[in-house]
Amino acid sequence: MNIVILLGAPGSGKGTVAGKLASENANLKHVSSGDLLRGAVAKGTDAGREAKGYMESGNLVPDALIARMIKDVVAETTGDVTMLLDGFPRNLAQAKILEEMGAPVKGAILIDVPDAIIQDRIAGRRTCPRCKAGYHVKNLPPKVEGVCDHCGAELVVRKDDNPETVRDRLVVYHRETEPLIAFYRDKGQLKSVVGTDPIDTVAASFLDAMKD
Ligand code: AMP
Repeated sequence: MNIVILLGAPGSGKGTVAGKLASENANLKHVSSGDLLRGAVAKGTDAGREAKGYMESGNLVPDALIARMIKDVVAETTGDVTMLLDGFPRNLAQAKILEEMGAPVKGAILIDVPDAIIQDRIAGRRTCPRCKAGYHVKNLPPKVEGVCDHCGAELVVRKDDNPETVRDRLVVYHRETEPLIAFYRDKGQLKSVVGTDPIDTVAASFLDAMKD
Protein backbone atom coordinates (compact mmCIF):
# COMPACT_ATOMS: atom_id res chain seq x y z
CA MET A 1 0.00 0.00 0.00
CA ASN A 2 1.14 3.53 -0.61
CA ILE A 3 -0.44 6.95 -0.29
CA VAL A 4 -0.83 9.90 -2.65
CA ILE A 5 -2.05 13.06 -0.93
CA LEU A 6 -4.43 15.38 -2.78
CA LEU A 7 -3.87 19.05 -2.04
CA GLY A 8 -6.11 21.90 -3.16
CA ALA A 9 -8.72 24.37 -1.95
CA PRO A 10 -12.26 23.30 -1.09
CA GLY A 11 -14.02 23.01 -4.45
CA SER A 12 -10.80 22.42 -6.41
CA GLY A 13 -12.07 19.01 -7.48
CA LYS A 14 -10.10 16.71 -5.17
CA GLY A 15 -13.09 14.51 -4.38
CA THR A 16 -14.34 14.44 -7.98
CA VAL A 17 -10.95 13.49 -9.41
CA ALA A 18 -10.20 10.89 -6.72
CA GLY A 19 -13.72 9.43 -6.97
CA LYS A 20 -13.49 9.13 -10.75
CA LEU A 21 -10.02 7.55 -10.72
CA ALA A 22 -10.96 5.09 -7.96
CA SER A 23 -14.10 4.01 -9.83
CA GLU A 24 -12.00 3.30 -12.94
CA ASN A 25 -8.93 1.67 -11.35
CA ALA A 26 -9.34 -1.27 -8.99
CA ASN A 27 -6.01 -0.60 -7.27
CA LEU A 28 -6.88 3.01 -6.34
CA LYS A 29 -8.82 3.69 -3.15
CA HIS A 30 -10.37 7.11 -2.46
CA VAL A 31 -10.32 8.10 1.21
CA SER A 32 -11.96 11.44 2.01
CA SER A 33 -11.58 12.81 5.53
CA GLY A 34 -14.69 14.95 4.98
CA ASP A 35 -16.74 11.87 4.02
CA LEU A 36 -15.44 9.96 7.05
CA LEU A 37 -16.48 12.86 9.29
CA ARG A 38 -19.89 13.35 7.64
CA GLY A 39 -20.44 9.60 8.05
CA ALA A 40 -19.65 9.84 11.76
CA VAL A 41 -21.98 12.86 12.14
CA ALA A 42 -24.80 11.00 10.33
CA LYS A 43 -24.33 7.96 12.57
CA GLY A 44 -24.22 10.12 15.69
CA THR A 45 -21.01 8.53 17.04
CA ASP A 46 -19.03 10.30 19.80
CA ALA A 47 -16.54 11.53 17.18
CA GLY A 48 -19.40 12.74 14.99
CA ARG A 49 -21.01 14.67 17.83
CA GLU A 50 -17.68 16.31 18.62
CA ALA A 51 -16.97 17.16 14.96
CA LYS A 52 -20.37 18.58 13.99
CA GLY A 53 -20.02 22.16 15.27
CA TYR A 54 -16.54 22.66 13.81
CA MET A 55 -17.71 21.41 10.42
CA GLU A 56 -20.84 23.52 10.27
CA SER A 57 -18.83 26.67 10.96
CA GLY A 58 -16.17 25.80 8.36
CA ASN A 59 -13.43 25.23 10.93
CA LEU A 60 -11.12 22.27 11.19
CA VAL A 61 -12.02 19.53 13.67
CA PRO A 62 -9.35 18.74 16.29
CA ASP A 63 -6.27 17.00 14.82
CA ALA A 64 -6.47 14.00 17.15
CA LEU A 65 -10.09 13.28 16.23
CA ILE A 66 -9.53 13.03 12.47
CA ALA A 67 -6.07 11.47 12.88
CA ARG A 68 -7.63 8.49 14.76
CA MET A 69 -10.01 7.86 11.86
CA ILE A 70 -7.27 8.10 9.25
CA LYS A 71 -5.02 5.82 11.28
CA ASP A 72 -7.73 3.13 11.26
CA VAL A 73 -8.23 3.37 7.49
CA VAL A 74 -4.47 3.27 6.86
CA ALA A 75 -4.15 0.19 9.10
CA GLU A 76 -6.93 -1.68 7.31
CA THR A 77 -5.63 -0.91 3.79
CA THR A 78 -3.18 -3.54 2.58
CA GLY A 79 -1.98 -5.10 -0.67
CA ASP A 80 -1.30 -3.53 -4.03
CA VAL A 81 -3.31 -0.39 -3.40
CA THR A 82 -2.62 3.32 -3.77
CA MET A 83 -4.71 5.36 -1.37
CA LEU A 84 -5.82 8.74 -2.75
CA LEU A 85 -5.94 10.68 0.49
CA ASP A 86 -8.31 13.63 0.09
CA GLY A 87 -8.62 16.20 2.89
CA PHE A 88 -5.90 14.88 5.19
CA PRO A 89 -3.44 16.26 6.17
CA ARG A 90 -5.09 19.67 6.44
CA ASN A 91 -2.31 21.43 8.39
CA LEU A 92 1.36 20.94 9.24
CA ALA A 93 0.61 19.21 12.55
CA GLN A 94 -1.43 16.58 10.71
CA ALA A 95 1.34 16.09 8.13
CA LYS A 96 3.70 15.34 11.03
CA ILE A 97 1.17 12.96 12.59
CA LEU A 98 1.01 11.10 9.26
CA GLU A 99 4.81 10.82 9.26
CA GLU A 100 4.84 9.57 12.84
CA MET A 101 2.30 6.87 11.90
CA GLY A 102 4.93 5.61 9.44
CA ALA A 103 2.37 5.97 6.64
CA PRO A 104 4.00 5.23 3.24
CA VAL A 105 3.47 8.61 1.55
CA LYS A 106 4.63 8.47 -2.08
CA GLY A 107 3.92 12.10 -2.87
CA ALA A 108 1.44 14.97 -2.90
CA ILE A 109 -0.39 16.37 -5.93
CA LEU A 110 -1.85 19.87 -5.89
CA ILE A 111 -5.00 20.54 -7.92
CA ASP A 112 -4.46 24.18 -8.69
CA VAL A 113 -7.56 26.40 -9.02
CA PRO A 114 -7.66 30.19 -8.43
CA ASP A 115 -9.88 31.44 -5.58
CA ALA A 116 -12.06 33.45 -7.98
CA ILE A 117 -13.29 30.24 -9.59
CA ILE A 118 -13.75 28.37 -6.31
CA GLN A 119 -16.76 30.37 -5.08
CA ASP A 120 -18.65 29.69 -8.30
CA ARG A 121 -17.75 26.02 -8.28
CA ILE A 122 -18.99 25.50 -4.75
CA ALA A 123 -22.16 27.50 -5.36
CA GLY A 124 -23.18 24.94 -8.00
CA ARG A 125 -22.03 21.87 -6.11
CA ARG A 126 -24.50 19.06 -5.40
CA THR A 127 -23.69 15.89 -3.48
CA CYS A 128 -25.25 12.47 -3.18
CA PRO A 129 -25.88 11.84 0.52
CA ARG A 130 -25.99 8.07 -0.07
CA CYS A 131 -23.03 7.13 -2.34
CA LYS A 132 -21.11 10.45 -1.94
CA ALA A 133 -20.88 11.11 -5.71
CA GLY A 134 -20.31 14.79 -6.51
CA TYR A 135 -21.98 16.91 -9.20
CA HIS A 136 -22.13 20.51 -10.40
CA VAL A 137 -25.28 22.07 -11.86
CA LYS A 138 -23.33 23.47 -14.85
CA ASN A 139 -19.96 21.70 -15.09
CA LEU A 140 -20.99 18.16 -14.14
CA PRO A 141 -24.78 17.83 -14.11
CA PRO A 142 -26.50 14.52 -13.32
CA LYS A 143 -28.51 12.91 -16.15
CA VAL A 144 -31.76 13.70 -14.33
CA GLU A 145 -31.80 17.00 -12.45
CA GLY A 146 -31.45 16.53 -8.70
CA VAL A 147 -31.01 12.74 -8.88
CA CYS A 148 -27.79 10.72 -8.43
CA ASP A 149 -26.76 8.86 -11.62
CA HIS A 150 -25.25 6.03 -9.61
CA CYS A 151 -27.77 5.22 -6.88
CA GLY A 152 -30.89 7.29 -7.61
CA ALA A 153 -30.84 9.20 -4.30
CA GLU A 154 -31.96 12.83 -4.20
CA LEU A 155 -28.95 15.18 -4.39
CA VAL A 156 -28.36 17.72 -1.62
CA VAL A 157 -26.41 20.94 -1.07
CA ARG A 158 -23.85 20.37 1.69
CA LYS A 159 -24.62 22.41 4.80
CA ASP A 160 -21.16 24.00 4.75
CA ASP A 161 -21.45 25.00 1.06
CA ASN A 162 -23.33 28.25 1.77
CA PRO A 163 -21.43 31.40 0.63
CA GLU A 164 -20.46 32.64 4.13
CA THR A 165 -19.12 29.29 5.29
CA VAL A 166 -17.29 28.86 1.98
CA ARG A 167 -15.54 32.21 2.60
CA ASP A 168 -14.52 31.01 6.06
CA ARG A 169 -13.33 27.68 4.68
CA LEU A 170 -11.15 29.48 2.13
CA VAL A 171 -9.60 31.60 4.90
CA VAL A 172 -8.88 28.41 6.85
CA TYR A 173 -7.46 26.82 3.70
CA HIS A 174 -5.00 29.66 3.07
CA ARG A 175 -3.95 29.88 6.70
CA GLU A 176 -3.76 26.19 7.68
CA THR A 177 -3.56 24.03 4.58
CA GLU A 178 -1.62 26.06 1.99
CA PRO A 179 1.65 25.77 3.98
CA LEU A 180 1.54 22.04 3.12
CA ILE A 181 2.40 22.94 -0.47
CA ALA A 182 5.81 24.25 0.63
CA PHE A 183 6.16 21.36 3.11
CA TYR A 184 5.87 18.69 0.40
CA ARG A 185 7.76 20.79 -2.18
CA ASP A 186 10.73 21.07 0.20
CA LYS A 187 10.72 17.29 0.55
CA GLY A 188 10.80 16.94 -3.25
CA GLN A 189 7.39 15.23 -3.10
CA LEU A 190 5.11 17.83 -4.72
CA LYS A 191 3.55 17.82 -8.17
CA SER A 192 0.88 20.13 -9.48
CA VAL A 193 -1.90 19.79 -12.06
CA VAL A 194 -4.05 22.51 -13.64
CA GLY A 195 -7.45 22.20 -11.98
CA THR A 196 -9.46 24.46 -14.28
CA ASP A 197 -9.54 22.04 -17.25
CA PRO A 198 -12.53 19.71 -17.80
CA ILE A 199 -12.70 16.87 -15.27
CA ASP A 200 -11.48 14.18 -17.70
CA THR A 201 -8.37 16.25 -18.50
CA VAL A 202 -7.66 16.95 -14.82
CA ALA A 203 -8.08 13.25 -13.99
CA ALA A 204 -5.72 12.26 -16.85
CA SER A 205 -3.07 14.82 -15.74
CA PHE A 206 -3.41 13.56 -12.18
CA LEU A 207 -2.86 9.95 -13.26
CA ASP A 208 0.22 11.07 -15.23
CA ALA A 209 1.57 12.94 -12.22
CA MET A 210 1.17 9.77 -10.15
CA LYS A 211 3.29 7.73 -12.54
CA ASP A 212 6.72 9.29 -12.40
P1 AMP B 1 -14.17 18.49 3.11
O1 AMP B 1 -15.24 17.54 2.69
O2 AMP B 1 -12.77 17.94 2.90
O3 AMP B 1 -14.35 19.87 2.54
O4 AMP B 1 -14.30 18.64 4.70
C1 AMP B 1 -15.46 19.17 5.28
C2 AMP B 1 -15.16 19.63 6.70
O5 AMP B 1 -14.72 18.51 7.49
C3 AMP B 1 -14.05 20.65 6.82
O6 AMP B 1 -14.50 21.98 6.60
C4 AMP B 1 -13.59 20.43 8.26
O7 AMP B 1 -14.52 20.98 9.19
C5 AMP B 1 -13.69 18.92 8.40
N1 AMP B 1 -12.44 18.25 8.00
C6 AMP B 1 -12.22 17.45 6.92
N2 AMP B 1 -10.95 16.98 6.92
C7 AMP B 1 -10.35 17.53 8.00
C8 AMP B 1 -9.03 17.44 8.54
N3 AMP B 1 -8.06 16.72 7.96
N4 AMP B 1 -8.78 18.13 9.68
C9 AMP B 1 -9.71 18.86 10.29
N5 AMP B 1 -10.96 19.00 9.84
C10 AMP B 1 -11.29 18.32 8.70
